[in-house]
Amino acid sequence: MTLKRLRAIVTALTLTASTLSGMNLSQAETALQSNKQSEIFQAYDTFKSAYMDATVEGDAAKKRRALEGIVASGNKLHIDVSDYRNKLKTLPAPTTDVKPAPATEPEPVAKPEPASKSRVKAPSIKGQNRLDEVEWDSGNLVFHFEKPLSNRDVNFFKLKKSGKHGYRYVLDIHAVLDRSHTLTHRDLKRISLTQYKPHTIRLVLESSQALPVRFAKHEKTLTVRAGLSGVTSPKRVPALSPVQARNKERVIVIDPGHGGKDGGAVGHNRYKEKEIVLSLAVKTASRLRERGYTVYMTRSKDKFIKLRNRTGYANKKRADLFISLHANAVPKSKARKAYGIETYFLSPSRSKRATNAAALENKAEVEDMDFYGKSTFLNVLNSEKIVASHKLAIDLQSSVLSSLRARYKEVKDAGVREGPFWVLVGAQMPAVLVEIGFITHPKEAVRIHSNTYQDYFARGLAEGVERYFAKNR
Ligand SMILES: [Zn+2]
Repeated sequence: MTLKRLRAIVTALTLTASTLSGMNLSQAETALQSNKQSEIFQAYDTFKSAYMDATVEGDAAKKRRALEGIVASGNKLHIDVSDYRNKLKTLPAPTTDVKPAPATEPEPVAKPEPASKSRVKAPSIKGQNRLDEVEWDSGNLVFHFEKPLSNRDVNFFKLKKSGKHGYRYVLDIHAVLDRSHTLTHRDLKRISLTQYKPHTIRLVLESSQALPVRFAKHEKTLTVRAGLSGVTSPKRVPALSPVQARNKERVIVIDPGHGGKDGGAVGHNRYKEKEIVLSLAVKTASRLRERGYTVYMTRSKDKFIKLRNRTGYANKKRADLFISLHANAVPKSKARKAYGIETYFLSPSRSKRATNAAALENKAEVEDMDFYGKSTFLNVLNSEKIVASHKLAIDLQSSVLSSLRARYKEVKDAGVREGPFWVLVGAQMPAVLVEIGFITHPKEAVRIHSNTYQDYFARGLAEGVERYFAKNR
């Protein structure tokens, strides 16, 4: 499509929109003060068409006005206007900033010399310096110039709480821009880089909070540090913190028990184990990903998966940890008595309690027992792995309990236990099975089914993983 054609279409659309809303920009701005939803909506439409208009016309001032209107009206209407807000941030500074500083703005500490004079006075520079490139590097702004900078080439000053702007930090650099540079940062209200005077580039950082702004020169490079996060919006690629970067290397497989034709236990209120553990698994995975970990789930929907394929999947992913989530159950006669959280790790234990729980969880697939050899699988257990699994179980159990107890009373610690769980057999990494509670208990079933409880549970699991890695490796 040619630009001309696009322009025609946009103009047509714009006309239609403004005809429909029957407002111009000023009327729309007035309508913002209205309490009527319909008027604000009309204003929103008007701002949007004005924005398209301004984009085609290349009218920066109108574009800013329209964007500000979209954001203001959108906020009132609870419309997600984050894209427009971001666009607003990337706009070049309004013209008032390019003009000489307003009276409230102090002059730079060392007053810049008139252009012709300073060229003579700055011994290191013959002729003017030029900005080649500016880039973000881990939250720092790095300027690359054509020639080395001298001490007198950089002037820095800050303005505290100048009106509604919050804090403004201004850096004047004796150089020229030969093209525009769009800079944005999510921690800043605004950032602009303009040719402030014929031989002076001005960088302005606006923030609602005070920033520890410093700069350092090294030959042709100027680095501005403002304590900003390493996340820059131009590339929209979140930079990882050192902890997240380290965690990214760690692979965790979360295994929501049962699924598909195997519903697991059915308890109080007919809650299904397979549904509860899937929901908790999704929350846990997202908590872990927030911390930077690489997470896989053996299933993310209601699907049947053989027990041996669950650990097989973890092995294939070269997982560092395998966490299987289940809900425990007892016959009706004992339903009111049995409750609590327990974490199992695989071992040859044949205790009655472990055998009971394992019998429930193993029930799904008898064929898997044959696959591993009913009586011989315990012989292939690696004692090192048992110890690591035991440690993981302790960290998970204690972290989950403390997370839940921050909010809930009567959270029962039913202990870290060992047991012959088939789902853990064959895992080449530390592997545990968490029985998140008794689905048969009237109170605990309601808890493990609830979103809030699951949130606290997931947070506890993620915290436990963090603890485990902090102590091991
Ligand atoms: Zn289960």
